[in-house]
Amino acid sequence: MENINLKINGLDVSAPAGSTILEAARLAGIKIPTLCFLKEINEIGACRMCIVEVKGARNLVAACVHPINEGMEVYTNTPQLIASRRRTLQLLLSNHDQQCLSCVRSGDCELQQLCKEYGVDDAHYYEGETTHYELDETAAHMVRDNNKCILCRRCVATCEKTQGIGVIGANNRGFDTMIGSAFEMGLGDTSCVSCGQCIAVCPTGALYEKDYTQQILDAIADPDKYVVVQTAPSVRAGLGEEFGYPMGTDVEGKMAAALRRVGFDKVFDTDWAADLTIMEEATELLDRVKNGGVLPLITSCSPGWIKYCEHYFPDMTEHLSSCKSPQQMFGAMLKTYFAEKEGIDPKKIVSVSVMPCTAKKFEIGRDDQDAAGVPDVDIAITTRELARLIKRSGIEFTMLPDEKFDDPMGESTGAAVIFGATGGVMEAALRTAVEVLTGEELANLDFTDVRGTEGVKEASYNVAGMDVKVAVASGLGNARTLLDKVKSGEADYHFIEIMGCPGGCVNGGGQPQVSGDVRNFTDVRGIRASVLYNNDAAKPIRKSHENPAIKKLYEEYLGEPGSHKAHETLHTSYVKRSVN
Ligand code: SF4
Ligand code: SF4
Ligand code: SF4
Repeated sequence: MENINLKINGLDVSAPAGSTILEAARLAGIKIPTLCFLKEINEIGACRMCIVEVKGARNLVAACVHPINEGMEVYTNTPQLIASRRRTLQLLLSNHDQQCLSCVRSGDCELQQLCKEYGVDDAHYYEGETTHYELDETAAHMVRDNNKCILCRRCVATCEKTQGIGVIGANNRGFDTMIGSAFEMGLGDTSCVSCGQCIAVCPTGALYEKDYTQQILDAIADPDKYVVVQTAPSVRAGLGEEFGYPMGTDVEGKMAAALRRVGFDKVFDTDWAADLTIMEEATELLDRVKNGGVLPLITSCSPGWIKYCEHYFPDMTEHLSSCKSPQQMFGAMLKTYFAEKEGIDPKKIVSVSVMPCTAKKFEIGRDDQDAAGVPDVDIAITTRELARLIKRSGIEFTMLPDEKFDDPMGESTGAAVIFGATGGVMEAALRTAVEVLTGEELANLDFTDVRGTEGVKEASYNVAGMDVKVAVASGLGNARTLLDKVKSGEADYHFIEIMGCPGGCVNGGGQPQVSGDVRNFTDVRGIRASVLYNNDAAKPIRKSHENPAIKKLYEEYLGEPGSHKAHETLHTSYVKRSVN
């Protein structure tokens, strides 16, 4: 690609044609601050933090959207620019609820960080009129606090463009502008799918998950409760970021050690249930293929995707696998199989899950998720909440030894851990389905065609003389593109994997927040996914149907995959919802 030569702050810089000033400066190791900018999602140049001087231009320009030209001379840090950025921050603070001491984002808030860097506090425009908004707590998964909103619109663009949903937008005009839903509806009354992608991109504490860390500590302190935790595959790939480890660090061992020290009675792994999901889902796929069932079969692990399908593609709910998600399968087996084995009353068990996902908070309250007559899962927390729980419990995470999960629900295979990356469920299912169909051992377990962070992937495999066509989509905007092709007859597949969040659960709405500065220039999804693929490659067993603990579960309790008992406990149903 052709390169463009320019000067930034007097330095000679060369950057690919089509780059913005922001990108060219970054290549030269010069940071220009941003707030509203999200690459390819929110490129509106509205917040004015990234303004720079271009020699010869009449006005200051927004570096995030302004393209570079040959011979351009740019200045990013003049006293005039610094003064202007200070003024922007002072104006933002003039109508901002500055409760930093208790704010959930204090320490990783992008507004707070910029104010610190530019030496800005609230003193300047203190006397003016301010707005006050009630918290929106109507949704199952999150709270919206417009008192901390800086109107950057990252959330709006993400909901609209990445997820193709658009249940939030800018209401009113001028001083009264606020982010909300149509007709001032609470978020919980809209067809929001609880994905939490808006939280993931918010630079401030205006959006956050409903926090249940105190309920967990209370349950642990109750001698009458038996409190068990399960952790999803992606949590081990993200949690370390909350404790200062570089992105892409696998902290599985320290996480197990921390959970034990928090005081859980058993520390189990959702990966065990991911293997179980493959047993049930592969059986369902083979049954539908052999017996003329509804195809394509679509995965059901992602509750954001499930809610999306129910709202936006209600005529396709019969394509959804009837399998509960791994979180719910785990809870179901905990309160039936494990409870019976250990002689514990399921009503005394508090089933806690740690998920990279905010939609899991919605999922635990769905109908038909109560195998033992009590909810399969009682409390679902995010990776971020787990970090808070560990810190609040006074645990020195970085000093912990690596420990293992408890038996029997802690044993898992490589197939299970890759559930957290887009294409991982498909690959895990193929490892099992191909061996069952052919009766032969697979020579190569890596289905690389379905790996990678592209939004939509397709592949075809010849299995026992039959062409099995599969597709994978992550991010709901991509899911819509794929489903439209299926509905129109343009594409026909046997099996589709859909994950609600772009890149899959590693980039879930409950994972550690990554600032715009990092997010815009880093392959967050790919780096976190590499943790899971490395973990898979290092496992002695990499196929779900070879997990000894799952084999034992079928021998001792369920019979065989797809059995009556398996259906009673591990499968569920869906509803058709409207769009609000
Ligand atoms: S959003 Fe940021 S600046 Fe505002 S109160 Fe929270 S931490 Fe402080
Ligand atoms: S949770 Fe997802 S669907 Fe709901 S408002 Fe946020 S981005 Fe939109
Ligand atoms: S809620 Fe957060 S992401 Fe949305 S506009 Fe406000 S500050 Fe920006």
